[in-house]
Amino acid sequence: MKKLDLVIKNAKLVLESGIIRGGVGVSNGRIAIIASDEHLPPADEIIDAEKKYLLPGLIDGHAHIHDPEMEEHEDFTTGSRSAAAGGVTTVVDMPLVSQVDTVEAVECKVGLGQDMSIVDFSLYGGMLTSDNVGMIPKLINTGVAAFKAFTAEPFYASTGAIVRALSETSEYGGHLAIHSEDRDILDEFSGRMEGEWDAPISHALSRPEIAEEIAVDRNIAILKKTGGHLHIAHITTRGALVSVERAKLNGDLVTTEVCPHHLQFHRDEMNRLGTKSKMNPPLRSKQDRAALWSALLRGTIDIVVSDHAPAPIEKKEEGEHDIRNAWAGVDGVQMIIRVLLSEGINKNRLTFHRLLEVTSSKPAKLFGLYPKKGVLAVGSDADMVLVDLTKKEKISADMMFSKCGWTLYEGMEMTGAPIMTFVRGVKVFEDDRTTIKPGHGQFQKMGDAIHL
Ligand SMILES: [Zn+2]
Repeated sequence: MKKLDLVIKNAKLVLESGIIRGGVGVSNGRIAIIASDEHLPPADEIIDAEKKYLLPGLIDGHAHIHDPEMEEHEDFTTGSRSAAAGGVTTVVDMPLVSQVDTVEAVECKVGLGQDMSIVDFSLYGGMLTSDNVGMIPKLINTGVAAFKAFTAEPFYASTGAIVRALSETSEYGGHLAIHSEDRDILDEFSGRMEGEWDAPISHALSRPEIAEEIAVDRNIAILKKTGGHLHIAHITTRGALVSVERAKLNGDLVTTEVCPHHLQFHRDEMNRLGTKSKMNPPLRSKQDRAALWSALLRGTIDIVVSDHAPAPIEKKEEGEHDIRNAWAGVDGVQMIIRVLLSEGINKNRLTFHRLLEVTSSKPAKLFGLYPKKGVLAVGSDADMVLVDLTKKEKISADMMFSKCGWTLYEGMEMTGAPIMTFVRGVKVFEDDRTTIKPGHGQFQKMGDAIHL
């Protein structure tokens, strides 16, 4: 075999079929060979993994990385550096406030990403409302086959709009991800707060579990009529998990995702964590958190996503005396792998097999990127992350690459971290720093989803 560009040897390779000792060889950005060390050919660069775990790079299926109107929050350069430092090699960017509902808006974002990003990226279309459902077939032709809608403010889509959008995915493909909280329930319970808004936990109390559960049930009921593919964004409650599990058992095409902050924190920590801990849906009870881990392990939850949406700290501090005034959103793209290693693998709540599925192979299948992405296999892109399961870190803002310069996880001691990240065979992160200039990232068109 001819000389390769890169060989990583002496690794524990996390493959779909299980974990084996050996290495991978890379040629022209793709995996050319997977073999035991003695069968690996020569290469220009050889990295000794020192028996650490080599995984496919993570695919973060929901991250607010770049909004042309909100560059003070994050941009493709800072967001993709955060991604690389979290072992994420493809981010699926989700719109924040600017609409991505025309071919021109997609082209604009693709151009920005290709100039600024250091990791690969795909794009969600949205926000979907009654006025722009017609975007679905147009955007699918540009490689954007995932769409976002809200059943709550600030981008409320009527039940009729949801019916039309799911019908469109039934006809043209792609999926509709819905932020599922019922607007009327939120209004009702906010109204009951009677001015008690100074404590951060008020935010969670004003958005009760029932708001999510009613919206999830309604969206599943619509799906049964329309067909198509419903993806429940950031699931958080036991009731919603039961509904999704029942729908899956009935053969409905429903998938769901969970965020690292809902796996890490619970509602009673909000007053201690302060205004930083505001996000939607809010943090839930300890019992809900336990149910999320259990559902992640057994497969009710399909993928883990960051819902990365930090803001400048001033926008968080504005909620100091009234939590309603704080920005809703937290950092996350750098934390998915850390939470899953530290709280998951190292605490026996997760297996490597499921880690691979929920962070790589399943998102790749869901977004139509498989097997180019999401797996260590010959012919696949050499998107890889080397993780040290024993590395201890005290999480601090200093280690974060986000533009916002703070983290909800400040001061936490965690065990397990990524130490090297590769995108198409090029090292983009090593030793706590990024190692490549912006512009390496390529737009990845979504294809047809694979449902297994
Ligand atoms: Zn989001």
